[in-house]
Amino acid sequence: MESPTWTIEDSADLYGIDRWGNDYFSLNQQGQVVAKTLNTEVPLQDIINGMAERDLQMPVLVRIENILDAQLFRLNNAFREAVKQHDYQNIYRGVYPIKVNQQAQVVEEIADFGSRYGHGFEVGSKPEMIAALATLKEPNSLIICNGYKDAEFIELGLHAIKLGFLCIFVIETPTELPIIIERSQAMGIKPMIGVRVKMTTQVSGHWNTTSGDRSVFGLTTTQLINVVDSLKANQMLDCLQLLHCHLGSQIPNIRDIRRGIVEACRYYVDLNNEGAALSYIDLGGGLAVDYTGARSLDEQSRNYSLEEYCSDVVDTIKNTLDEYQVPHPTIVTESGRATVAYSSVLLFNVLDVNNFEPSHIAITEEEDHPHLIYMRNLLKELTEASVQECFNDAHFYRQEVRELFRRGQITLRTRSVAENLFLEILQAVAAMTETMEHVPTELQNLKTSLADIYYGNFSLFQSLPDIWAIDQLFPIMPVHRLDEKPTREAILADITCDCDGKIDRFIDMDKPFRETLPLHRLNDNEEYYLGVFLVGAYQETLGDLHNLFGDTNVVSVRLNNNGGFDFIKEIHGDTIADVLSYVEYDTKNVQLNYRNTAERAVQEGRINARERQQIIKAFTASLQGYTYYEKDEI
Ligand SMILES: *Cc1c(COP(=O)(O)O)cnc(C)c1O
Repeated sequence: MESPTWTIEDSADLYGIDRWGNDYFSLNQQGQVVAKTLNTEVPLQDIINGMAERDLQMPVLVRIENILDAQLFRLNNAFREAVKQHDYQNIYRGVYPIKVNQQAQVVEEIADFGSRYGHGFEVGSKPEMIAALATLKEPNSLIICNGYKDAEFIELGLHAIKLGFLCIFVIETPTELPIIIERSQAMGIKPMIGVRVKMTTQVSGHWNTTSGDRSVFGLTTTQLINVVDSLKANQMLDCLQLLHCHLGSQIPNIRDIRRGIVEACRYYVDLNNEGAALSYIDLGGGLAVDYTGARSLDEQSRNYSLEEYCSDVVDTIKNTLDEYQVPHPTIVTESGRATVAYSSVLLFNVLDVNNFEPSHIAITEEEDHPHLIYMRNLLKELTEASVQECFNDAHFYRQEVRELFRRGQITLRTRSVAENLFLEILQAVAAMTETMEHVPTELQNLKTSLADIYYGNFSLFQSLPDIWAIDQLFPIMPVHRLDEKPTREAILADITCDCDGKIDRFIDMDKPFRETLPLHRLNDNEEYYLGVFLVGAYQETLGDLHNLFGDTNVVSVRLNNNGGFDFIKEIHGDTIADVLSYVEYDTKNVQLNYRNTAERAVQEGRINARERQQIIKAFTASLQGYTYYEKDEI
């Protein structure tokens, strides 16, 4: 323990785990992060240890089944309570939008855990439709079909209706309607139809362009009327059963959601008056995840609870429709992010640390070079009044030294001593500004620019693409040693060593973000593990093969009631051969080419036949190996 006064509660506060953890993550008395359910808690460290026993290397994506189960329960239960509380005269039926995490295992678990509540799927393409049809078991499950639908897509849906599913085609564009009419008449199957309306309600948050006049989705009022008239002309207006709207994803402000629902209800009322047999109102996604735990209007947060969301949805629909004496429809939402975000955690080890602390370089000649003496004096004379001057002079002398080196007038060793003196001065200046009342502007970010770089065994582009693409913030923290005070400030760099492969924005309770993350000093001969939390939504399938780092290992665990857990499934990440084949290398040829190169080396006498054998064996083993940094087993 570095500081006797540091407590586990201090760590909880610092990383905000009780605010973003949603009762699924917190700290135990051993200073470890635990995953929790109602009856049990399991340290993530235990899961890491269990993986090592199974020879599964870091990084790993851990999916915790119970959390997905619990989140589906919370969503359905909160709506059930809201329906009761507001005396709403119909029910809630959720659907899960497959695009948010299409992994078979996740989709299967949702079908399984969700069957109790009749939870269905939302699909936006033929492959997603096939996945839904192959996974859903309960007849009467909803399948909401969004996206552009061709005749084949529509036939799949009509067959699904025959099998007993409530499969609804949501018309996004006028061209879909004639195909639906033609196919359903030809096949003699009555379709269920929905219409997606273009919402004018403006919504704040990152994804706000999904709504408004320029939205690429949904029908304009003219198109809507044409759909109604066309259905009427075909005696099919009774097929129009659902009104769909989607205001966007991760909507931070509940007041925007309420305004959107009122607008949707107005469409509902008038379509009802036009003679449509509407009985479902589908509000799309948008239910946000509080990634920062700040409960704010920030893009990465939300100013409402799940209970408040459900209550507001039910209450707003009821009040608006009651005004026009329209019967209450079944309420559908397509919450993806909020359903799956919590259940996945990315765990990785730290490979190395770069710090900007001065080190001692032995020097024999030029010990008393005038520039070195000037710099040592700066250090001695540093006062609060002279911080800025000292900072300026340090830069000046360093520049001079670099110039002398360039002209061959000092040695590499002398230059290195000067570089270290420079760091020593900057560290001293940074330390001094800590306690100063007014810090000169230029020095305010000094601490951040001197932060350590912790190199993590993961690829941002593969596992956390939204950090790179849209500056998404995820909670990141060590999963152990939380009874110790973290004494370092760091940014994280990934294994791609790409200048974009870094994380330098972290959650903070008091400001939009902080630029460095407090971490512990690495201990000798001990791994240091970090977790990135709430990564279950959107991260897995958006990832790419930057530097040909492939999928990570994935383990799915179920926590049981005695503080233990079971590995339900282990999925080995991509091998090097896998990722090469994704970019069209033929691995047989890859091997053959290398064998030929080795053969030539034998012929030219560089290696002997036995060495060739070993070299080829190692190459073949590498092809079958993990793409990430592997610890030697020796
Ligand atoms: C992406 C999307 C969703 C999911 O939104 P979340 O905010 O993740 O819940 C739902 N419906 C439609 C139509 C979507 O495009």
